[in-house]
Amino acid sequence: MKFSNRIEQVNPSMTLAIDAKAKEMKANGEDVIGFGAGEPDFNTPERIKQAAIRAIEANDTHYTPVGGTNELKDAIITKMKRDNGLDYDRNQILVSCGAKHSFYNLAQALWEEGDEVIIPAPYWVSFPEMVGLAGAKPVIIETDAAHNFKITVDQIKKVLTPNTRAILINTPSNPTGFAYEKSELEAIAQCALENNLLMISDEIYEWIIFDGFKHTSIASLSKEAQKNCVVINGVSKCYAMTGWRIGYIAADAEIVKKVTKLQGQSTSGPCSISQAASIEALVGPHDDVLEMVREFEKRRNVMVDQLAAIPGVSCNKPNGSFYSFPDFSELNGKKDRNGKVIQGSLDFTEFLLTEKKVAIVPGIAFGADANARMSFATSLDKIEEGVKRIKEAVELLK
Ligand SMILES: *Cc1c(COP(=O)(O)O)cnc(C)c1O
Repeated sequence: MKFSNRIEQVNPSMTLAIDAKAKEMKANGEDVIGFGAGEPDFNTPERIKQAAIRAIEANDTHYTPVGGTNELKDAIITKMKRDNGLDYDRNQILVSCGAKHSFYNLAQALWEEGDEVIIPAPYWVSFPEMVGLAGAKPVIIETDAAHNFKITVDQIKKVLTPNTRAILINTPSNPTGFAYEKSELEAIAQCALENNLLMISDEIYEWIIFDGFKHTSIASLSKEAQKNCVVINGVSKCYAMTGWRIGYIAADAEIVKKVTKLQGQSTSGPCSISQAASIEALVGPHDDVLEMVREFEKRRNVMVDQLAAIPGVSCNKPNGSFYSFPDFSELNGKKDRNGKVIQGSLDFTEFLLTEKKVAIVPGIAFGADANARMSFATSLDKIEEGVKRIKEAVELLK
């Protein structure tokens, strides 16, 4: 069978692969501790589930408009005003089947061969793949732990070409957990505007922030920034709704119109019931969200403090999301019990899974081979046990 060149170029999602392997070991009765999950371990809050049940009972089960119901668009408009100080009209909002779908559609509508899109690494695994699927070139800027994995304007200026179309910002970040300060975003926005770059801002973890940090949307910095920015957001992470598949963009009306046209010939509107539930998620009382965030913060403290105490491991304390991004590169060159030399994040994570049944995601999946991603969307008990096992595993390396 011949397949398209387009699909042959796509790398399968490594984060999903590790998670699947750990789940399979678990299903075989093995005592696996999984830090691979890219989703909250909490269930969807009751108020949101009840809104979905009401929607079913009201026969809210038909096709909706392609870009989402007016009611959900209005809830998103309310949210953008409340959380980000941004004003949008309905024709500037498009609801899709998850934020991943939002970005996919956007990439298809905006870019093609010859275009370049700047992506800071470590990146969310799907960003470069989806830019590539659109035919465009992902231009990766590497960041480091010393700068909490954030890019600087100098780095951006070095990679600019006449073909650079856009820059991607993900704050708080998956996989690093770090969020940009307002002043850092101001510098990036100024550079983007001066160089005619569209800003794509993925803010899907915006409520999951710690130590009193304040999230800033780069779109909120000025009217001009808003016009030249596509905000991507969704309900998956902050409301524990990964399975409901609702994401959205807020952008200039012309962009929304083009992307809606694509969606109209592919998926049509997202699930009507999920849309109804998302209204409640966005505009209902947020006590449940804050409770989840408090829990994540406790777990972050335990995970990061204990990891950083392991000789050969370093880990900065992230200020958002539910991931830590420890550096294991000091262990490179050491040998396991069978004499196999550890040569990067893939070797180390495989060693960990085989030797101690702890699943973490190799940083190479995110363009950072020194690190690995560890999700703290799991219980404190599992975190303590898992990090203890990592310490024991590291001690086995000679
Ligand atoms: C999880 C995630 C998404 C996609 O979430 P959906 O479930 O598709 O809404 C988008 N961006 C980042 C950075 C993520 O971590």
